[in-house]
Amino acid sequence: MNTLIRNGTVVTSRDTVNADVLIEGERIKEVRAGLPDDGARVIDATGMYVIPGGIDCHTHLDMPFGGTTSADDFETGTRAAAFGGTTSIVDFAIQARGTRMRDALDTWWKKGEGRACIDYGLHMIVTDLANSGLEDMDDMVREGVASFKLFMAYPNVLMVDDATIFKALGQTAKNGALICMHAENGSVIDVIVARALAEGKTAPVYHALTRPPRAEAEAVHRAIAMAEIAGAPVYIVHLSSEDALNQVREARDRGVPAFAETCPQYLLLSIEELERPNFEGAKYVFTPPLRPKQHLPKLWDGLKHDHLQVVSTDHCPFCFEDQKVLGKDDFTKIPNGGPGIENRLQLMYHYGVNQGKLSLNRFVELTSTAPARIFGMYPKKGEIAPGSDADIVIWDPKARHMISAKTHHMRVDYSMFEGYEVEGNARTVLSRGEVIVDAGEWKGKTGRGTYLRRAAKGGAWQ
Ligand SMILES: [Zn+2]
Repeated sequence: MNTLIRNGTVVTSRDTVNADVLIEGERIKEVRAGLPDDGARVIDATGMYVIPGGIDCHTHLDMPFGGTTSADDFETGTRAAAFGGTTSIVDFAIQARGTRMRDALDTWWKKGEGRACIDYGLHMIVTDLANSGLEDMDDMVREGVASFKLFMAYPNVLMVDDATIFKALGQTAKNGALICMHAENGSVIDVIVARALAEGKTAPVYHALTRPPRAEAEAVHRAIAMAEIAGAPVYIVHLSSEDALNQVREARDRGVPAFAETCPQYLLLSIEELERPNFEGAKYVFTPPLRPKQHLPKLWDGLKHDHLQVVSTDHCPFCFEDQKVLGKDDFTKIPNGGPGIENRLQLMYHYGVNQGKLSLNRFVELTSTAPARIFGMYPKKGEIAPGSDADIVIWDPKARHMISAKTHHMRVDYSMFEGYEVEGNARTVLSRGEVIVDAGEWKGKTGRGTYLRRAAKGGAWQ
């Protein structure tokens, strides 16, 4: 049976129009005002915005880290995402040193298969190009893994040297994939961290104080310079500071294809959270760290002026009670990461659109269309137009919602935004034509999500 979404206001990255949306099977068939129902199931969207489903291109579900595993798996994490209006994610497979990328891809496919509730793509985290790494990258592109992430931080764990980064960039210059960089100078940070520990500075706040903004800016600058030399675009993940933003802006002003994302936590929270008593600061330990307050308006400004192109979450939840506590006496042992997959659209709508910092269209672009384009999913995802997947959120701009660990769907015992009241929330969520969330109720099936094969030469190349 066809589905007709009627009487809503369709909002895309370009337009805001009163139109009905006709869905046939998994795809959108027609978008225009006054469509007849012709026996279709009708969903009334009076007073609602009809927007493309959110795309979170930075999540870590079921991810091993420092002897523990992120608290959401592909089932709980993607279901929570759907409640918040996100209908696609791109998660990260991790190549273990000395192994083939194919092994990691198989491992992560198994994590997703039979569990994911929405569609999911995968980036590949590259830790080793020593043996067949460059061929492996081409192999991954053939499997729809059109992006790779490399770390300039975490020496001896994930960090790779500049030669490896440069070789990977060179390979993408040929195969059209996109390199994503975790940009922080890990070697310098490790020296500062060792110094702090030697001075007995073990509390959570030292996690932030030992990772200065200049260490991020330096790495962003270096990553962009290497990409320029290699003749490839580059994408900076989870940009957190004004210093780093200035590097991206300067490059873009020169016409360099440098792209960057930020996350709600960097837009709304500051380093003060890490000073909470009773070790609660550990809830806000992730990298890059939260920054002093003066950085926040600069990042909002970056979103507005397209110096930043995407808002993702870097969702990587660890429970406070039994996981964050691993670092009780040493901040370096606190599992790095925070939960956010469910609240991204709510927060960006409330603090962006309602507070006049972002237009409705820019909100859609940052949370859906731009990640679809940059990561090779457009126009299948991120668009409301004939032929696109019917991943659609019927957004109630007047719905009030209080964010809380007591009511959220993420499998983690705290919220970084506990008690925040937002206006605007997903009412009905469709994924490939199927209603999976309606009025706060889960209607989908576990395992219905499919693997997203993404195309190389995505938007970053155009
Ligand atoms: Zn991450």
